[in-house]
Amino acid sequence: MSEPISRRTMIKTVGLGAAALAMSGDPSAMAAPAGVAPAEVPYELPPLPYPYNALEPAIAEEILRVHHDKHHAGYVNGLNATLEKLKEARASQDASNVTALCRDLAFHGSGHVLHTLYWESMTPGGSSPPDGSLGDALERSFSSFSAFRDQFLAATKKVEASGWGLLAYEPLGRRLLILQAEKHQNLTIWGVQPLLICDVWEHAYYLQYKNERGGYVDSFFNIINWPAVERRYASAVAGSLTALHQGTISDTPERSGIH
Ligand code: FE
Repeated sequence: MSEPISRRTMIKTVGLGAAALAMSGDPSAMAAPAGVAPAEVPYELPPLPYPYNALEPAIAEEILRVHHDKHHAGYVNGLNATLEKLKEARASQDASNVTALCRDLAFHGSGHVLHTLYWESMTPGGSSPPDGSLGDALERSFSSFSAFRDQFLAATKKVEASGWGLLAYEPLGRRLLILQAEKHQNLTIWGVQPLLICDVWEHAYYLQYKNERGGYVDSFFNIINWPAVERRYASAVAGSLTALHQGTISDTPERSGIH
């Protein structure tokens, strides 16, 4: 917990920050010169991109007020509080509570990211189905828009208990996927892009280290390919820029003067 500040800051910036940067709507936050880690931005409750009653009759004004002002705000406050606790834990070199804090980080972080995308996924009165590159991609991945719609509706309606239905882009296969997210707090934050991965399934170490996972993880850390991690970092930052500049997440003119 005492690695050099420059590297630690870089990883933290991307681990939580890539999606948030893309959603911040503040291009200056990403204006760092090439090769310099962009500044972190604080997590803040974004204003709704439309008035509270703008989605009626589909969604009532009362629901939107409570959902945005109470539920989403709670995730933002929880995320900032968890980050503060992690900062204190690093300062005191006390890792005893790290598992609980990782859970809190995933719960509040995913809640903030997904709600931000949720508000941006709706618009008063709706809109026409996509043509152009998204329309083509939907046809490639699902064979037709109607087939996509049927699968998206079915998957979303059948999420067990609390959760989300998502359309997502998977970059290795370069395809669109429909996913269910049950319990978004299951130890990940939707929207992050992995930079450094350590496999701790038993098949990765048991033949050599038996039950001593710690020894394996220590050894792993000594053989990390940091140049590869840096390449992924640069790609992740570039990806968040692309999302913002394409207007897929922010730049909604109705944002100002709502509250
Ligand atoms: Fe919600």
